[in-house]
Amino acid sequence: KAEGRGTWRFFETEMDARMQARRRLELDLRRALVEREFDLFYQPLVQIGTREITGFEALLRWRHPERGMVPPNEFIPLAEETGVIVPLGAWVIERACEEAAKWPEHISVAVNVSAVQFRTPGLVDVVTAALARWGLAGARLEIEITESIMLQDNVTTLGILRRLQRLGVRISMDDFGTGYSSLSYLRSFPFDKIKIDQSFIRDLTSQGGAQAIVSAISGLGRSLGMRTTAEGVETAEQLTQLRAEGCTEAQGYLFGRPMTGKEALELLSVQGPGPHSFACA
Ligand code: C2E
Ligand code: MG
Ligand code: MG
Ligand code: MG
Repeated sequence: KAEGRGTWRFFETEMDARMQARRRLELDLRRALVEREFDLFYQPLVQIGTREITGFEALLRWRHPERGMVPPNEFIPLAEETGVIVPLGAWVIERACEEAAKWPEHISVAVNVSAVQFRTPGLVDVVTAALARWGLAGARLEIEITESIMLQDNVTTLGILRRLQRLGVRISMDDFGTGYSSLSYLRSFPFDKIKIDQSFIRDLTSQGGAQAIVSAISGLGRSLGMRTTAEGVETAEQLTQLRAEGCTEAQGYLFGRPMTGKEALELLSVQGPGPHSFACA
């Protein structure tokens, strides 16, 4: 009995410690937003056929004063749970448009929008205001959503997606193939782009079905009039296979790691006014 109580007390302390750590991180997140500790990095998106860079994906980073660079997977889930993602996500859209306005006109920027941010009223207004403030054409902004968004109230979700598309903004389905009943979503909304999850690209050159899946998704994109982007392309071998499968676009360490805005701008200017292509691939 005594032991049982001890165990329970231990459990309570454990819970307590975890709640406190969570609370600390939450306060830390809110502080970081005020202190401007967040930054965006940019990773090139490359057309497989022409090897041209046609855009960059903006990826969020947190320069924590003690912990150093914190990757998004370590704070976005909590930012979503606590609602911090709403102001943080608005900042991402604003900042990405500001940066893209410095690029040549044929280069676009892709921004990740989380499900929580998506269902909070005001997203379309945030996008409209950011485009207007930086004088960016809607067509130069891509919004990446994941399948989890489609699990929410369908009428509202589709309404928001359509309003964004009416601004000229393009919509990409991110991490495709890792969520639930993906195919029905493709039928309910005309996405501009399908991003094939990097887990399939990683296994592309080994046995076990990844190649068949990549091939099928590329074919699906082709017949539905949606572009297909392979995520996490690291080797020339993977690129060769993707080209053979008819996948249209690639993103990954083979072409470039996420880089600072300054580095992205340098990459674009080194190559002149365009087209911006990669000799390595
Ligand atoms: P994602 O949108 O699927 O972004 C692609 C992730 O793959 C990025 O990780 C990128 O750095 C990584 N990656 C790119 N090329 C390669 C490669 O060749 N090999 C490997 N192993 N990885 C590669 P990152 O930057 O850590 O971001 C992780 C996730 O965090 C993103 O996945 C996205 O879901 C989320 N995220 C990032 N920025 C934001 C943001 O501003 N807002 C929201 N809501 N989510 C974001
Ligand atoms: Mg993404
Ligand atoms: Mg992805
Ligand atoms: Mg991902």
